Amino acid sequence: MSRYWSPIVSRLSPYVAGEQPRIQNLVKLNTNENPYGPSPKAIAALQAAADDALRLYPDPSATALREAIAVRFGVQSDQVFVGNGSDEVLAHTFQALLKHDKPLLYPDITYSFYPTYSRLYDIDVVEIPLDEGFRVRLSDYDRRPCGAIIIPNPNAPTGIGLAVMDIEALAAAHPDVPVVVDEAYIDFGGETAAGLIGRYPNLLVIQTLSKSRSLAGMRVGFALGQRHLIDALERVKDSFNSYPLDRLAQAAATAAIEDAEWFETCRQKIIATRDRVSGELQTMGFDVLPSQANFVFTRHPALSGAEVYSALRAQGVLVRHWNKPRIEDYLRISIGTDAECDRLLEVLKTLATAG
Ligand code: PMP
Repeated sequence: MSRYWSPIVSRLSPYVAGEQPRIQNLVKLNTNENPYGPSPKAIAALQAAADDALRLYPDPSATALREAIAVRFGVQSDQVFVGNGSDEVLAHTFQALLKHDKPLLYPDITYSFYPTYSRLYDIDVVEIPLDEGFRVRLSDYDRRPCGAIIIPNPNAPTGIGLAVMDIEALAAAHPDVPVVVDEAYIDFGGETAAGLIGRYPNLLVIQTLSKSRSLAGMRVGFALGQRHLIDALERVKDSFNSYPLDRLAQAAATAAIEDAEWFETCRQKIIATRDRVSGELQTMGFDVLPSQANFVFTRHPALSGAEVYSALRAQGVLVRHWNKPRIEDYLRISIGTDAECDRLLEVLKTLATAG
């Protein structure tokens, strides 16, 4: 606290990102990064872009990237907005589309940046509890006044997804308010709602290149929606930073989007490892929520979340734990390589047997 702070800064509760420690040989399964590198074509494009042209500002509209995304999703390039990570796209969305007279609705257990943005932009919120199985129950969203809705699909940190027809039903049930679907983890088993944007003027779909395209270090995310929604995001962006994506990020992201083959191979490897890890955890007595993401959310009935987190950490395996009601005994474990997951399972086996 300082008397020089503005009142809004004093009231903020900043998001706490997962640790990025510099410990040698750490098995890092705490921030849902992709264990496989980005497309070699993305690296080559990045290297090619590292030239004298860096003295010039980048394309403020990221035209080539937006066109590549439009082709990939079968939409028009003016239906695509890009930003510095999907966190920035989300931040602009909160400000541009989610602040209204009636409250914004989102699940009580969800991406913890949502409460942070709501505070930053002073947005009135109602958190809708997940059901006993940690599922989003869409009928709960119909029963109260609402100015906008945001839901991650699959949800984080549960990993549980909704079917695309459920997203459609949600958009259809709330035609007068923006409905935003945060699809950060959609490529690991869900079905994107991108194909619905033509029919639902209230639907905005947000994705990231950080997870399924292994570019967390590049910071690129995007939104798909009808022109009036994209316009709102552009108005905020152009009141904030004209060049959120530098030349290198634009080049790498465009090549990554175009390399469908690399994308497919990596995501299939992660899905296979996730299903194996889920099965082995269950065999050891862990409860595992059915995940459609590149992580699993799990607990052991006889061990506290804090206990398992610390024991794993002591053995050089880093996972994510939240000291929050309902989920304090759960751990979110990102899916790494098979070797990393084997190390995780080895440590957990000793704990589960001892417990
Ligand atoms: N949405 C969800 C649900 C996430 O878990 C994350 C990653 N922390 C993001 C968005 C943001 O990802 P990025 O900013 O790397 O695109």
